[in-house]
Amino acid sequence: MKRFLKALLDLLLPSFCLACEKPLGPTPDLLFCPDCLGMLHYITSPLCPCCGRVYCKATGGDHHCGPCLAKPNHFTRARALFLYEEPMKEVIHRFKYQGKTACLPSFARFAHNLPQLAELEGADWIVPVPLHPKRLRERGFNQALLLARAFFPKDSRVTASLLIRSRPTEPQTSFNGGARRTNLKNAFDVVKPHRLAGKKILLVDDVFTTGTTVNECARVLKKAGASEVMVLTLARVKEDY
Ligand SMILES: [Zn+2]
Ligand SMILES: [Zn+2]
Repeated sequence: MKRFLKALLDLLLPSFCLACEKPLGPTPDLLFCPDCLGMLHYITSPLCPCCGRVYCKATGGDHHCGPCLAKPNHFTRARALFLYEEPMKEVIHRFKYQGKTACLPSFARFAHNLPQLAELEGADWIVPVPLHPKRLRERGFNQALLLARAFFPKDSRVTASLLIRSRPTEPQTSFNGGARRTNLKNAFDVVKPHRLAGKKILLVDDVFTTGTTVNECARVLKKAGASEVMVLTLARVKEDY
C-alpha cells in the first residue's frame, strides 16, 4: 500500500533536480540528479580548525590559518557542509531569494552523519543568525532558522528567541573588510541573557563568507554570558589557499 501511494505521488508530483531542474526518477532520496550530485563540493580536511577555511590546494593535516592566528575569533570553530560553488550556489540562491524550500529535506539528509556535525556536539542552544523584522517581513522566512530546523529536526534546543537583530543593516555583500564590521555594529542583541549564562551555543547560518556576521553574533552572545560559540553553515566561500 505504501509503495502504491509513493508511486501515485511520483506520478502526480514528479521531482526535479534542485540544481539543473532535470526530472528525477521515482521517489529520490536527494533532489539532485547524478550529474549535479557528482559536482557538489563537500568540505573535507585539510582545513583551519577554527574558522573552517578550506585548504583546497594543500595536502596534510588541519592547521590554523594566518588570520585566525593573528586575531582569534569570538567563536571556537566554524564548520560548513559545502563549498559555496556551483551547483550549490544556485540552489542556495533559489532557496534564499525565491523561497524554494524544497531543498530543505535534501540539506537535512546531507547533514545527517556528517563528521562536521560530530565536531559541533554538546551545544545547549542552537541559534539561527537572526534577520531584522523588516527583512523577515520582506522575505517571509529566516533561511538560517529553516536550516537549523532541517539540520536538527524536532530539537527543542533550536531557538530564534535568544538573539535578535535590533538594527536593520545593509546586505554584507555590499561591503569589504572593515566596512563589514562597521555595518554590523550594534546590530545584534541578546534577549533573556540569563538563559545564556555559561551555555554552549551553536550558531547556524546559510553561508560563511568572511565570518564577520557570525563573529559579531558570537561576540554579543559571549558578552551576554555564553561560555562558548560554535558555528555551522550550509556553505562556505572558498578562498585561494
Ligand atoms: Zn541536476
Ligand atoms: Zn582560520
